[in-house]
Amino acid sequence: MTTYDYDLFVIGAGSGGVRAGRVSAAHGARVAIAEEYRVGGTCVIRGCVPKKLLVYGAHFAEDLADARRFGWNVPDCAFDWPRLRDNVLAEVDRLNAAYTTTLDSHKVEVILERAEVAGPNEVRLASGRTVTAGRILIATGATPQLLHFPGSEHAITSNEVFHLPTLPKRVLIAGAGYIANEFAGIFHEFGSAVTLAVRGDAILRGYDQQIRDRLLQISMGKGIQFRFNTVFKSIEKQSDGSLLVEFTTGEPMTVDCVMFATGRVPCTDGLGLEEAGVVLENGAVKVDDDNQSSVPSIYAVGDVTNRVQLTPVAIREGQAFADTIFGGKPTRVDYGCIPSAVFSHPPIGAVGLTEGQAKEKYGAVRVYTSDFRPMKNVLAGRNERALYKMVCDAASNRVVGLHMIGPESGEIIQVAAVAVKAGLTKDAFDDTIALHPTMAEELVLMK
Ligand code: NDP
Repeated sequence: MTTYDYDLFVIGAGSGGVRAGRVSAAHGARVAIAEEYRVGGTCVIRGCVPKKLLVYGAHFAEDLADARRFGWNVPDCAFDWPRLRDNVLAEVDRLNAAYTTTLDSHKVEVILERAEVAGPNEVRLASGRTVTAGRILIATGATPQLLHFPGSEHAITSNEVFHLPTLPKRVLIAGAGYIANEFAGIFHEFGSAVTLAVRGDAILRGYDQQIRDRLLQISMGKGIQFRFNTVFKSIEKQSDGSLLVEFTTGEPMTVDCVMFATGRVPCTDGLGLEEAGVVLENGAVKVDDDNQSSVPSIYAVGDVTNRVQLTPVAIREGQAFADTIFGGKPTRVDYGCIPSAVFSHPPIGAVGLTEGQAKEKYGAVRVYTSDFRPMKNVLAGRNERALYKMVCDAASNRVVGLHMIGPESGEIIQVAAVAVKAGLTKDAFDDTIALHPTMAEELVLMK
C-alpha cells in the first residue's frame, strides 16, 4: 500500500477548507492545510464578518436619529471611520487566531504558504517542497471579478474596502448584487454620497421582484442614486486624488472611490488543476454530488466549485466531505430551501421560490403579502415600510417561498426557513398564535 505524507491535504483555509480539515482530523485522518493569505478565508477576513460589523456600525446613524423621538437627548454625533475600521480589523485578527487555534487543537498542520496541485496525490508548496497526500481537497474560494477598461486599476473591491484610510465622500459602486447593495447602505449611513452603476435595469437578480422593487424604492428615498444601463468607459485620476469616471453613455462623474461589486470568480488560476487532469467548468472545479472532481483523489468544496456562493453551504460541503471520506458516514448536502439575506438598509431575507419561479414550477400559486410600517418606524417618524410575502403552491397550500424586507429580516427568515424546509402549509402558519407585538407575527397573520 502506498504511504503518503498525509491522508488529506487541504488547499485553502476558508470556511469549507477549515471545516473539512478539522472534522477529517477528528475522524482520525492525518491532515495538513495550506493557506497563502490568512486562516479564516473570505468570510472571516474580508467578507461576511467584517461586513456585518460595518452594517451594525452604519445602522447607528438611523438609531441615533430615531432615539430623539424615543426621548433621548442625543447631541449631534460625528462618525469616526478609523476607529470603527480598526476595531473591526482587531476582531478579524481575533477570529483569525481562534481559527488557527482550532486547527492546532485538532492536530491539523497549518502551512502558511501557497500550495498548488502537482499531480493526483502531490502538492507543491511555494517554498519548493513537495508533499504527498491520499486525497487533496481544493477549497480556495473565489475572488472579486474585476472589470477591465482604461483606468480600471483605480477601482477597489471588497478586498480593499475594509482597509480604506479615509471615508470617501463620494462613492460609485459597480454592480447591483449583494455586495453593491450592502455597501451602498453602509456608505450612505456613514454620510457618503453613493451611486450604483448598473449594467442592466435590475438589482438583486434572483430575489423576488416585489422585494427588489421595495429595496430600490427605499434606497432611492434615502438618497442613494442608481444609474441603470450604464457601462464604464474610463477612470482618470485627477490631481486632487479624485476620480473622473466616464461611461459609454450619459454624464461623467467625479467621485473619491470606485468599487467593483460585480460578482466573484472561482480561484483556480495557476493551481495546476487542469495539468493534473481536473476538469473545470467556467473556471470552477467540476464536482459530483460527493464533491469529487474528475480526478478520483481530488475533491473540492465551497466557492471554488461555484455551486452556491454562501459560507454555510461551503461549511456543509466540508462537513459532508469529511464525514463521507474519513467518518464512514456517507453524507450529501441538500441544496433545497437555502435561506439567504442581503444586509442592505433595511435587510432582505428569503427562502424558497420567488413568485415567478413558483408559477413556473407549480402553475397555480397563492400569494399572501403583508405591507406594513413597523411600529418602531411609526414612532420614529420614519416612512420605511416592511414587506413580507408568502408564496404557496395552490394545490397543496404548501409554503414554497418566503420573502421579506424590513428590520431584522435575516434573523426572522432563519427561523421561518425551518418551517418552509419542513414543507409546512399556510394552515400551519395560520394555526400558530401570533406573538404580539412583533414584526414576525405578520408571518402568521397574512391574508
Ligand atoms: P452578485 O452576483 O450578487 O452581483 C453581481 C452584480 O454585478 C450584478 O448586479 C451583475 O449584474 C453585475 N455584473 C456582473 N458582471 C458584470 C460585468 N461584467 N459588468 C458589469 N456588471 C456586472 O455578486 P457580488 O459581487 O455582489 O457578490 C458575490 C457573491 O458573494 C454573491 O453572489 C453571494 O453569493 C456572495 N455574497 C453573499 C452575501 C450574503 O449572503 N449576504 C454578501 C456578499 C456576497 P447582472 O444582474 O446584470 O448579472
